[in-house]
Amino acid sequence: MVGVAQLVELLVVVQAVGGSSPLAHPYVWDTLVDYQKLLNTPHVPEDAGEHAEAFARMLARIPDGWGRWISCNRGWYELLVELDEQLSALFPSYIIHQVKEKFGGLRVYWESGEAIHDPNDPEPPTPGREGDEEEWEAWKERHAAWDERLDAYLKTPEGKARDADLKRRVELADKLVNAAEARAAVTCEICGKPGQMHRTRGAWYKTLCQECAQRKDYIPASE
Ligand SMILES: [Zn+2]
Repeated sequence: MVGVAQLVELLVVVQAVGGSSPLAHPYVWDTLVDYQKLLNTPHVPEDAGEHAEAFARMLARIPDGWGRWISCNRGWYELLVELDEQLSALFPSYIIHQVKEKFGGLRVYWESGEAIHDPNDPEPPTPGREGDEEEWEAWKERHAAWDERLDAYLKTPEGKARDADLKRRVELADKLVNAAEARAAVTCEICGKPGQMHRTRGAWYKTLCQECAQRKDYIPASE
């Protein structure tokens, strides 16, 4: 069965080639009547079970336009929820761009959602959509001046300490993400039991336990 995520990937391919691709089957267009609305709707997996709330929180971290779904099977749900708890502790407003299975492995793309600046000197807000050219020009000047003050702030003891703290947390979070991806590499994506990389004869890769691999007609990737 073709899932929503695959349909959207297909649509992206179709758009990239200017809509002339033979992939532009009417079914795809009919299904994605409102592409943006679909992207921004949180897709908590139906089999999320006790993780449904955690998934809803994770999906809310994905910005508009990225597609609010997590594309992997339930064998990895638990480790994803644990990773989310760890990252939330380091960065309460962290941003998820994508969580998905790719080439049989887990990929987590994230961002801290934090930047260091002087708390008494916030970044000048843009004029927004309503702003005319003059307002944007004035903003550009204000922002350039703010950039200079920011450089100076980052050289103060307080700025240096906060910057170092941010870097330390980013390094730690990167390690946690790597650890979760490494754990997924030895966890069956379908049932969560210990697993390893498998492939079909058509070279589709998936991390699976022996039982799930047999049922789905996968063989160890090393064979
Ligand atoms: Zn399994």
